[in-house]
Amino acid sequence: MSNRLNTTPNDLRAFWMPFTANRQFKQNPRMMVAAKDMHFSAADGRQVLDGTAGLWCVNAGHCRPLITEAIRQQVGELDYAPAFQMGHPKAFELANRLIDIAPDNMANVLFTNSGSESVETALKVALAYHRVKGDGSRTRLIGRERGYHGVNFGGISVGGIVANRKMFGTLLTGVDHMPHTHLPEQNAFTRGEPEHGGDLADELQRIVTLHDPSTIAAVIVEPVAGSTGVLVPPKGYLKRLREICTQHGILLIFDEVITGYGRLGSAFASQHFDVKPDIIVTAKGLTNGVIPMGAVFVTQEIHDAFMQGPEHMIEFFHGYTYSGNPIACAAALGTLETYKQEGLFERAAELAPYWEDALHSLKGEPHVIDIRNIGLVGAIELQGVAGEPTKRAFACFVRAWEKGCLIRTTGDIIALSPPLIISKSQIDELIDCVRTVLNEVA
Ligand code: PMP
Repeated sequence: MSNRLNTTPNDLRAFWMPFTANRQFKQNPRMMVAAKDMHFSAADGRQVLDGTAGLWCVNAGHCRPLITEAIRQQVGELDYAPAFQMGHPKAFELANRLIDIAPDNMANVLFTNSGSESVETALKVALAYHRVKGDGSRTRLIGRERGYHGVNFGGISVGGIVANRKMFGTLLTGVDHMPHTHLPEQNAFTRGEPEHGGDLADELQRIVTLHDPSTIAAVIVEPVAGSTGVLVPPKGYLKRLREICTQHGILLIFDEVITGYGRLGSAFASQHFDVKPDIIVTAKGLTNGVIPMGAVFVTQEIHDAFMQGPEHMIEFFHGYTYSGNPIACAAALGTLETYKQEGLFERAAELAPYWEDALHSLKGEPHVIDIRNIGLVGAIELQGVAGEPTKRAFACFVRAWEKGCLIRTTGDIIALSPPLIISKSQIDELIDCVRTVLNEVA
């Protein structure tokens, strides 16, 4: 029996951790055992300032009372209820509350359990929408280089991260990718939306012309590409995508898994950029990251298209055992109430200029070749070490953790996205920590 695990909490062997260098981690683990507001408690008792809202999700900060209490109450009252041919009030209440804060062209919400599932749901709604309208030749999907849309097959097919795609075969067919909008030579150290690159949206027109508009179902983009290093859309870019989609009857999907729920200072990035997509994909901040849940928003027109057949027929053959799970709904309602009572979206908008100045004060620190920001999100791009991409930024991450700040790295980029409750002095602390580790790693 020597190969059996000893089942103490300290035995790390059995958990195959996601997106992690498992062997390295297990030699020198970074463990968290508690969290409150802006901080994690590390296993060794240190307080760690959360500079990333967990994985861009804990927008209201940790262990917030309205959310924990809502979950506590719900779990003792109605722990589970199916959503197939059945219902419970909180799922309907939550959908209504979400529509209240969504862009005004959104009418209906489908519930999922994650960002990845929300992406799959959105792509399937788009394909089925054209089919129910008698336009079944519209089967092609268009994504973008450096796009991240989760890890399921649809999402990695329209996504543009090579490492996430290359091991998994041919993926979905009929997918094209627009170029990404990262133009470091023209736009380095831009504050907010870059001046250059809006015309890259015309690449969509080129792809549409190549295949003929009658074959294209949908375009999916993150308004701000998060996971590949906070790529803020160039001025005019999203509006131009919208124009081209409208002109050709193509659905525009915004993946707002990161930008949704206040990150840019409004409920959704669509409102911030004043561009209305046909479908919005969300998760993360919907429940403050506390319970897995996603929500997909669709327009009245999309919903109506499905509501045409005989009334006794199921309109859309899609859904999950946990769609609209009561505990997740309670968590989301507690989260929305926290955002509202504390005015957290407005707070993010108010803090954004201070955040921008603080981030850009890192210009000139060792190896910093670009800084990008919008709302309460930012990225510091480092000159990579030749032959060893990711090494320098990862060294910063490890040192920052040791000094008591959680930052995130992707390739040679440090990404920051603190909870929206962060104070100005905590912004200073976070940026000072990054400054210190940049100098140490140099
Ligand atoms: N889309 C985007 C834009 C994301 O950032 C993420 C997660 N970082 C996802 C989808 C996938 O979400 P999940 O990890 O909850 O499946």
